[in-house]
Amino acid sequence: MPFSISKWVCPPPETHDEPLGSAGHVEWFRCLPYVLIHLSVILAFFYPVTTACLVVALISYSVRMFSITAFYHRYFSHRSFKTSRLVQFLGALIACSSGQRGPLWWAAHHRRHHRHSDKEEDVHSPHTKSFFWSHTLWFMTDYAVPTFLKEIPDLVKFKELHFLNRFDWIPVLLLALLCYFAPEISWFYSLTGLSNMQMLIWGFLVPTILLYHATFAVNSINHMFGTRRFNTKDESRNNWVIAIFAFGEGWHNNHHFFPGSARQGFFRGEFDITYYVLKIMSILGIVSRLRPVPAWVKKKASTPSS
Ligand SMILES: [Zn+2]
Ligand SMILES: [Zn+2]
Repeated sequence: MPFSISKWVCPPPETHDEPLGSAGHVEWFRCLPYVLIHLSVILAFFYPVTTACLVVALISYSVRMFSITAFYHRYFSHRSFKTSRLVQFLGALIACSSGQRGPLWWAAHHRRHHRHSDKEEDVHSPHTKSFFWSHTLWFMTDYAVPTFLKEIPDLVKFKELHFLNRFDWIPVLLLALLCYFAPEISWFYSLTGLSNMQMLIWGFLVPTILLYHATFAVNSINHMFGTRRFNTKDESRNNWVIAIFAFGEGWHNNHHFFPGSARQGFFRGEFDITYYVLKIMSILGIVSRLRPVPAWVKKKASTPSS
């Protein structure tokens, strides 16, 4: 059923089978919503851009980027801190509204990336495939669809995460609707002066596109451009520009050397917003046991080289 609409709302379920490898092909029909969201950015030219638009976009981007980096990546994929079942669900729910698939899929896929970095089995290496493939095309292929459960034995017991994973489009749609109808609330309208379409564009469409590319840049740019401080077996790089946009994820060579730490900026000057927010959340008791960077790891660091 190559053109089945059910692929949009109920993607192929979890599986224990090995992925097909990098021979997958792009599923253009299934990825039509992803393509359309990029084309929709043209709407931004038809409505006035106000300061409130930019503030709304910044909030929408920041809250979701933090949820992706802190929960999808550092919590679900690497178990680098602890939290309650409620907070893990809320973190997953917000991250899921970014349209980057469900929490189980993200973690399972990412663990494979660490095991096979820049080898043939790594589905988004810019060294075994093209840059464009590593940046976005891999995300649109058939083999990137199912969730490989054997990668995530520690997460399979959470039924609510399975539900979110299976119907990963619901939070995306809810956020789009929330943004569109927010100006109907009188206090919100008097505070921002934004119309329904301005809210849809700047609260949902534009930041969602930016989130896609900031996240994907870690897979593509961070495996090509930047400096290496640790002698890892992959081509990971530290890149301060990506570290800013991806809230600390740009210290990717650090991260590949020691993925278990809650922080990715290991040294002074390595700006890691996600870690700073996690630190505040740990002081407030929302998360706990942030795994530190061991002293032996810092000792292995050498002068950054390209
Ligand atoms: Zn990587
Ligand atoms: Zn990782």
